[in-house]
Amino acid sequence: MINSILIANRGEIAVRIVRACREMGIRSVVAYSSADEDSLAVRMADSAIRVGPAPARESYLNKQSLISAAVLTRCDAIHPGVGFLSENAAFAQEVTDAGIVFIGPKPETISLLGDKVQAKKTARENGVPVIPGSTGSVEDAKAALESAEEMGFPVIIKAAAGGGGKGMRIVREAGEFERTLKMAASEAESAFSDGTVYLEKYLEDPRHVEVQILADSHGNVVHLGERDCSVQEKHQKLVEESPSPVVTPEMRASMGNDAIRLFKSLGYVGAGTIEFLVVGDEYFFMEVNARVQVEHPVSELVTGVDIVRDQIRAAAGEDLGLSQDNINLRGYAIEVRINARAPGRVTNYLPPGGYGVRVDSFLYNGYFVPPNYDALIAKIICYGDNREEGVRRMERALSEFVLEGVPTNLDIQKRIIGHKTFQGGNFGTGLLASIMEEVA
Ligand code: ADP
Repeated sequence: MINSILIANRGEIAVRIVRACREMGIRSVVAYSSADEDSLAVRMADSAIRVGPAPARESYLNKQSLISAAVLTRCDAIHPGVGFLSENAAFAQEVTDAGIVFIGPKPETISLLGDKVQAKKTARENGVPVIPGSTGSVEDAKAALESAEEMGFPVIIKAAAGGGGKGMRIVREAGEFERTLKMAASEAESAFSDGTVYLEKYLEDPRHVEVQILADSHGNVVHLGERDCSVQEKHQKLVEESPSPVVTPEMRASMGNDAIRLFKSLGYVGAGTIEFLVVGDEYFFMEVNARVQVEHPVSELVTGVDIVRDQIRAAAGEDLGLSQDNINLRGYAIEVRINARAPGRVTNYLPPGGYGVRVDSFLYNGYFVPPNYDALIAKIICYGDNREEGVRRMERALSEFVLEGVPTNLDIQKRIIGHKTFQGGNFGTGLLASIMEEVA
């Protein structure tokens, strides 16, 4: 049983968790920084506790302060949300050691999956196809160049501890290789305090397709279908949809079975995502995100499963009674991320609504979007019986959306959703770059 949850996060995901808690009869306590005193999550939660000043490293990344806050407010569980400490094995361990339930997989699982080289090795051992040419961690530049030449350029250098699209470098010619390798390693060192890098074949214009997994501690593991996240800006997701326009029922079953096999072997508990790159009808393992993801509502709409609720229930040790036969994928869902381009005060906010439209946000009139954190300020999610209807509903929802006082990417989102190539469904991760070229 979980009675009270400390939410160690902010923004829309904190609001999402507060809402789940309220529906489950669980007391919610929001941990907030000085910059978030007036946040919607703080206002909505049953209670709130300040954990530090605005800089994340002194508040949302301050393990000791968060654990003390949970103890002080008598919470029996901590939900880490997304980002911040959500995939930090040391935090999960310290929370557990304090006798508090960490809402996520076991610390050992997080630790294994957090090292992308280890994660790939585990995927390969479980018969999951991984990206061609994937090497172990790069030890010396000469050997690395040899393996790059073996797989053939272009290659991509990635940080073993990477995340959030950071620390990736594409190399197109052997001549650039050594210099780029050095830069990538020192970038990784400063961003993640770990300079370990590895190589992969760089796939041209692939699709990003991921599978949502839900697992309990009784050995039940199911998948909730895929999300296609190919619309990206600098390797960051902008639009997510389910089902993917290119995934066939055979591919879905195969990806789903691979994912379930891997998660079972990990003894995974809770919500997680396995990410693949897809080229033609082939898919390749990229990584596992050991937490709930920003784009989870897309899967909620096509399955009717409340992922955050079930994640909490799984952490509490409940048997979710999951069976793949009971997971029915129905219709189509799409999510558009509205990102702030700069901080600012919201002078007018009117979110879209109506049939088949969901908005997950923390905005309200008069709210000041602080400069300190992630740019995501609203997610608009639409449901339709099929892709055409869902996309048309999204166009309608975006046309209703009013937000004044904060510059956003709304215009570019309208352009993407209205674009003939997007609507045709036949595109890869290079879509946005080609749309931007057209605009210029
Ligand atoms: P992060 O964890 O930092 O988000 P990922 O490994 O998930 O990084 O990759 C993010 C995105 O980068 C992918 O969705 C894809 O667009 C691009 N990418 C990563 N690896 C490759 C690759 N080998 N070939 C082509 N694109 C890649």
